[in-house]
Amino acid sequence: MKTDYDMIIAGAGPTGATCAKILAEKGYCVLVIEKCKLPRYKSCSGMIIAKTAGLVKEYFGVEIPDIVKCTPYDNYGMIFVNDEGKEYKFEQRGFNVWRSSFDYFLLSKAKESGAEVIDGVSVIDCQNLDDYVEVTLSDKYKSVKRAKYLIDCEGAMGAIKRSLLNCKKNYVVTYQAFYEGKINLDPHYFYAYLQPAFSQYDAWFNVKDGMLVFGVAVEDISKIKEYNDNFIRYMRDSYGLSIYNKLKEEKWIMPRIRPDFHIDYGVGRVLFAGEVAGFLNPMGEGISCGMESGYCAAKALVENFQDAKMILTAYKQNSIEVKSYMQRQWNLVSLMSGKFKEMTL
Ligand SMILES: Cc1cc2nc3c(=O)[nH]c(=O)nc-3n(C[C@H](O)[C@H](O)[C@H](O)COP(=O)(O)OP(=O)(O)OC[C@H]3O[C@@H](n4cnc5c(N)ncnc54)[C@H](O)[C@@H]3O)c2cc1C
Repeated sequence: MKTDYDMIIAGAGPTGATCAKILAEKGYCVLVIEKCKLPRYKSCSGMIIAKTAGLVKEYFGVEIPDIVKCTPYDNYGMIFVNDEGKEYKFEQRGFNVWRSSFDYFLLSKAKESGAEVIDGVSVIDCQNLDDYVEVTLSDKYKSVKRAKYLIDCEGAMGAIKRSLLNCKKNYVVTYQAFYEGKINLDPHYFYAYLQPAFSQYDAWFNVKDGMLVFGVAVEDISKIKEYNDNFIRYMRDSYGLSIYNKLKEEKWIMPRIRPDFHIDYGVGRVLFAGEVAGFLNPMGEGISCGMESGYCAAKALVENFQDAKMILTAYKQNSIEVKSYMQRQWNLVSLMSGKFKEMTL
């Protein structure tokens, strides 16, 4: 394998895959480094909104194939219950996917365009130098790779970003439990609940391949059981939930984004994109803005390859629309929910 690249991309989620696809098809020498073995698992509701399906078509030139979907394939939108129990219904056609398959599918398209991929290896150090970036990998040789630019698409954990910006961890913990059972709710919708008894952020319900999935997000992990129990009790009382069997449970993290969010675009020769930069829409919809920010970063690189300073300016400029979409979404949630209202602009 080579040592020198035009761009190294850390992280093979939808953000990294989009960036890799756009840059590789323009002829740049691109290396994607992914911490997990591929296809990697990602805790996710797997709701692909119409906007995301459009971005897959626009950036990757293909429709989302059935093989990455789970049942019910079609998602009809979101039903949102605010902190006072008031219901809002947003109708919009989308899809229901397993993230391991969806993300791997996007990455396979980037590979077809020429991107190289190393999986099962992390970026453990990054030197952001005047003329290039040097990264050290976690393999047994502690291999070193160099590139003109690093695009950090590492998701919520943000270890590379924190080492470069010296900033603190900023995320909520998500807990999802998967059950066999039945409930009187239409499985084609995604349901989000903002009642304070169920979570410190939001709680949600959806159906994947016949499994009933209940999630809560918390800042204090000692509260997970209490919130989950309250949520399950509410779903029993309100929607006739019966549980036969618990199939699995998982904890993950998500950036703690609020209506007053801040985006970190990059520093020196490193650009941040997707969740690590701070892109996340309300109710944890992060695939669309991850892909869009990955595209905006790639476009800035293509148009200003020789000028690191201009790249950051161009990336920020290219991101005005995705940032404004995110702002509008958060403002809408603030108007509907007191939980977020105090942070409205
Ligand atoms: C419980 C839950 C439910 C969600 N539901 C939805 C949903 O229904 N719809 C939606 O649109 N969004 C959803 N999201 C949000 C969505 O998953 C994220 O916003 C999206 O995955 C962000 O994409 P990304 O590429 O920026 O990061 P990720 O998808 O997290 O990808 C980052 C990748 O970087 C790798 N990595 C990390 N550190 C390193 C390193 N040092 N070196 C190399 N690789 C590294 C990771 O292993 C990972 O594969 C959900 C999130 C959670 C937690």
